[in-house]
Parts: sequence; structure tokens; C-alpha cells
Amino acid sequence: MAGFRCPVCGRQLENQGTAYVCPNRHSFDKAKSGYVHLLTHASGAKGHGDNKAMVCARRDFLETGAYAELRTAVVQTVKKYTPNGGTLLDSGCGEGYYTAAICAALDGCAEVLGFDISKDAVNLAAKRCKSAQFAVASAFRMPISDWSVDVLTEIFSPFSEAEFARVLKKDGVLVEVIPGARHLYGLKAAVYDAPYQNTVADFVRAGYKLEEQLHLSGELYLTSPQDIGNLFLMTPYYYKTGRTEQARLAALQTLITETEFYILVYRKTV
Ligand SMILES: [Zn+2]
Repeated sequence: MAGFRCPVCGRQLENQGTAYVCPNRHSFDKAKSGYVHLLTHASGAKGHGDNKAMVCARRDFLETGAYAELRTAVVQTVKKYTPNGGTLLDSGCGEGYYTAAICAALDGCAEVLGFDISKDAVNLAAKRCKSAQFAVASAFRMPISDWSVDVLTEIFSPFSEAEFARVLKKDGVLVEVIPGARHLYGLKAAVYDAPYQNTVADFVRAGYKLEEQLHLSGELYLTSPQDIGNLFLMTPYYYKTGRTEQARLAALQTLITETEFYILVYRKTV
């Protein structure tokens, strides 16, 4: 079992029930919901990730089941690649929508770790899933030992090249979920004068071999302004929206929009 490592000295943390403690006696208390805060000043984090409103918007939207098909596909993929007794790490796990389903499917056959830089998100994740271990941490300074992870999932979260390479075992697997070109195009068309398609880079990653790729596409039909607002709040467009666009968004009663995702499975080769 890999578990978390001490963000101060880098040694392995032992899960002692109410706290995590390293051999150098650095101790980190668990929050009531069960997660541990391992984000140190040196992590270089400027923000604190998604705020409570954004986290709740995402949770409420995902609870509608709109991305259930994606979740099922992610879980099946992850299950296929996770060895018995192995370690799965969900980087940028958010409020644990995918982590909890992965954990349920693995059913104790592998250790499941998740972290996110947003404390509000991790708190919800820890409440949602009791059999995984969760930490507040940065993807750019992960509290994870070198070469300790069998499968690393990165689902709409930052790609942290150096850290992923450091923590993945040799032959470890990276499962990445990214939006396709037409993902949420209908939402953008309803809000912006000049909507654009997402740019999808080629799937080549140095140090990895693309083992498998899955393409999922569908359509969402949203019939509540609440759901539409929540969906918008989960997207990066939220940050780039002026008053006119906000007003258009607020006026929407229904919305039909495409969804498009890629699940990419990479095998580490170096
Ligand atoms: Zn320590």
C-alpha cells in the first residue's frame, strides 16, 4: 500500500485513524469527514481551487446523471488496468464523483487515493466515499511517493507532466479524460456571439505509449435554468463571460447541447 507521503520530509505517512504521522513525527490531523490537509506553503499553490459555489454546482449537475455514461466508461477502463493489490490515484478528484464509482467497482481489490487543491471539493469527496483516502494537495507537488502508483486518473483536471512521471510505476497507466471539439458547443452557441470549438491536440505524450482511446459523444437536453447554470459554472468559460453573456445565460429556460469526450489510456514507457 502506497498511501500518502509527508509533505514536509517526504517519508511515508502512516494512517493512524484520526491523523497521519510520518517517522519524523510530522503529524496531520484528519478533518471530521476524514480527509487530510497536505497542502503546504511550499506547494506553491496560489489559489485554493474551486470555491464552494462551484463545487456544489458541479456536484448538483453530476447528480442529475448527465455524465453517468462517461462515468461508467471511466470505471470500466480503470478496472481493466488496475492490478489486484495495486494503487490507484485520482489526481484533481474534485468532489469525488468519479473516485467514488471507481472505488466501488474496485471493491477493496486496490488502494484508492484522491486529492484536489480545493478543500471544499475534497471534503465532499471524503463524505461521499469512505473506503478511499483523500487529501487536499496540489497536482504540481503531490504528496505521493516516487514510482508508487499503478493507475493514475486525470479527469478534466490539470496535467502535471513531471509529477505524473515521478509517481507512476514503470509500466504504470495514465487514464486521461478530455473534452472533444464539440463538447458543450450548444451551450457556447447560446451564450456567445462567436462560439468556438475546443482545440483537441494530437494524443502523443512523450514517455508514454497510447494504449487505448475511447470516444464518447451524446446530447444533453436540460430543462431547468438551475441545471444550465450549474453546467456553465463547471466550465472554464465561466471565467471569460461578460455581462451580456451572463444575461443570455440567465434567460435560458432549456438547452440542447452536444457532449463529447475522449478517454485516453497511456502506458508509461520510461
Ligand atoms: Zn515528515
